[in-house]
Amino acid sequence: MAQSTKSRAGRHLSQIMTDGYMELHTRASQGAFCVWIAINVPAEIFAGFENVIYAVPESHSAMCAGKGIGAVMCEKAEKLGYSMDLCSYARIDIGNTTDNGKDSPTFGLPKPDLLVSNNNNCALLAKWFDVHHREWSVPHNVMDIPFCYTPQQEKDHRYIISQIKDLIKLIERLSGQEFDAERFNTAVHHSWRGLKEWKRFLHCARQCPSPITAFDSFVHMAPFLTLRGTPVMADHFKLLADEAEDKSATGQLPVPGEKFRLFWDNIAPWHQLRKMSKRLAELDANIVGASYTSCMGTVEGSFALYDWDEKDPFDYIARTMNAYMCPHGLELRHSSMKEAISELTIDGIIFASNRSCKPYSITQMDQQKRISEHLGIPATMIEVDHADVRKYSEANAFLRIEALLETIEAHRKN
Ligand code: SF4
Repeated sequence: MAQSTKSRAGRHLSQIMTDGYMELHTRASQGAFCVWIAINVPAEIFAGFENVIYAVPESHSAMCAGKGIGAVMCEKAEKLGYSMDLCSYARIDIGNTTDNGKDSPTFGLPKPDLLVSNNNNCALLAKWFDVHHREWSVPHNVMDIPFCYTPQQEKDHRYIISQIKDLIKLIERLSGQEFDAERFNTAVHHSWRGLKEWKRFLHCARQCPSPITAFDSFVHMAPFLTLRGTPVMADHFKLLADEAEDKSATGQLPVPGEKFRLFWDNIAPWHQLRKMSKRLAELDANIVGASYTSCMGTVEGSFALYDWDEKDPFDYIARTMNAYMCPHGLELRHSSMKEAISELTIDGIIFASNRSCKPYSITQMDQQKRISEHLGIPATMIEVDHADVRKYSEANAFLRIEALLETIEAHRKN
């Protein structure tokens, strides 16, 4: 029998993700109230109810892409008339529902009783969830979260808290269950503990050479989406951070000849993780950080963990509802990337222009110009699609990445 090459944290991740999806299906079949959410929706809310479960279609789509079946699932949606220009997460999810998750590694997701999206990542999300709303006559609640060009304003903060409280009332009404503030508080503390461990893990990349790669962070971020607010997630991130520190202490390096330290901007190319990391390692290049995974638990303009005073959980989840990059204007994105370049001793940046995620990609050209002009850091732009392999060319991407490495070398010589 082949030996598993996964580390302890890797094996633990597989186990908790499998258990999580199995529990989701089991509890749904036993009558739990099921909510489908967008990734920005604070899932700790559901822990405040005795029998409310949640599923994250974006995360499920990413998993399908990682397993190599993204394009097959996209095609199912395209056959219904959905354009190839739509986000591949949406196409995979819609495709998946056409045959009750026949090809899904998790047998799809249990049917929802409520859909909750938000509009600060992108407008498409609300339209995508509306497809299910129409198809299944399931209520759809859209959280209206203001886009930000400056740190979150007090009026926006209050507005978000009021919507979270409205959502709780809606779930109480639809599920017939009562919200327990103490359970919710405990869940938020689990998330907070987990995110501190997550940062400890990411900080290991500050070491040169780094004991971790951004690919590790792409793979291991999944529990933050599907097991948020649980001790399982917090414990997993602790295990991950301990393992990374151990690798650092014992010199176990993913790119032993690390010569180029790179930073990745945009969502992970789920269908390429293994191939891309292997090929980069052969070039002595390590992507040591990524905006996509550095922003978890942060607020706009910085990748530092948001320093919660552990008092009001509503205050905390509302304040961090803009953690992801899409709702941030150019200045805020630049400020956090500048911080990462310095802390991680970055030699070059890969801007991955993502055919699916227009809101993430829209400012990248300006950002690339700024980084090169203001900070003198070489950068390149490659074309990817995070979940649809048909829109990615390995040859073209590596042509540019190799040119970037040559530019970095030339910079050094100068
Ligand atoms: S377009 Fe981007 S933000 Fe919108 S659903 Fe797709 S990946 Fe998420």
